[in-house]
Amino acid sequence: MKIGVPGEIKNHENRVGITPSGVFELVKRNHTVYVQKDAGFKSGFFDDDYSDVGAIILDTIEEVYEAATMIVKVKEPIEKEYELIKPHHLLFTFFHFASSRTLTEAMLRSGSVCIAYETVEEEDGSLPLLIPMSEVAGRMSIQEGAKCLEKPVKGRGILLGGVPGVPPGKVLVLGGGVVGVQAAKMAAGLGAIVTIMDIDMKQLRYISDIMPKNVTTELSSEYNIRKHIKHTDLIIGGVLIKGAKAPKLITKDMLKDMRPGTVMVDVAVDQGGCFETTKATTHENPTYIIDDVVHYCVANMPGAVPYTSTLALTNVTLPYIVKIADAGWKKACEQDKRLAKGLNIVNGAIVYKEIAETFNLDF
Ligand code: NAD
Repeated sequence: MKIGVPGEIKNHENRVGITPSGVFELVKRNHTVYVQKDAGFKSGFFDDDYSDVGAIILDTIEEVYEAATMIVKVKEPIEKEYELIKPHHLLFTFFHFASSRTLTEAMLRSGSVCIAYETVEEEDGSLPLLIPMSEVAGRMSIQEGAKCLEKPVKGRGILLGGVPGVPPGKVLVLGGGVVGVQAAKMAAGLGAIVTIMDIDMKQLRYISDIMPKNVTTELSSEYNIRKHIKHTDLIIGGVLIKGAKAPKLITKDMLKDMRPGTVMVDVAVDQGGCFETTKATTHENPTYIIDDVVHYCVANMPGAVPYTSTLALTNVTLPYIVKIADAGWKKACEQDKRLAKGLNIVNGAIVYKEIAETFNLDF
């Protein structure tokens, strides 16, 4: 198959759809891979890295779409790309159709086939192509939170790990899913005293089994949260209720109970945030302060570490890319029900119920 990897043109998107190692696997199977010039540059992969393993480097995005039948990307196409997408194209990327009628209608008009990373689904309902980004954000939340605790950015002036003779900082992690577990692990590794809260007792039992001694679990409740925030240095918000807005676990009135310079990192900001005072920020201007509490609420945290994020994402997308390239999308979806769940639009028709319902369109 002819596979195209255009450069990402969405603002602040530094990742790339395939790494040189992915190209190596595809070329080995006799597929042809076209990579746009400098597509991997911001992720730390150079044109020579791609051409050394057999990719053909093309100068423009137009040439990539023209040459390829399967397009592998990271983010949804933006308006400039709409006219490049033709009925013979298969697109494999993040789409998040439900958040954009314009995008949905453009892809319907294109006549192409759209397989969305975010709806590829395991039998147990987990979303394997989303997990790596939660892992990245969870681990980053401690790195960013620790930095925010420093005095120059109005934090409490605490070194999270402490030093011999001085106790470490305290971290409260709300939500014990993918983000929460990775955050707790990082904080524990730094030597902090960590509490992780969830409403799912089964998950708390699992966490209690796998975590080191400086991590304790507690059931998530308003009473327990109010008790902890009085002496916590860093609070991480990592809760998710599938398909719904995040519950507001920290209300504005609670900020007054916190010590000045306490830091709150709301990873769940993309679902509305789990703090009442959350508003989305960017990597350029990541923090703001309310009632002396430092808020960090960046909605695309993995974007700041494109090298790690690209590798983490492509580790999980590549097996599907190979399947589609080897068998064609129809056969690959027949053979793999998880991949079939990723089908959102097929030749001008919506084939994913929730998207049709969102826009009141035919299904
Ligand atoms: P997950 O489903 O793995 O975990 C969520 C956990 O929250 C579950 O264990 C659930 O039981 C728990 N929960 C639900 N209600 C709760 C409550 N009231 N109190 C405590 N825990 C509660 O989800 P995840 O992959 O860890 O993702 C968490 C959030 O992070 C999502 O909103 C996701 O979109 C977001 N995220 C943001 C970024 C970013 O860049 N900001 C990146 C990746 C993921």
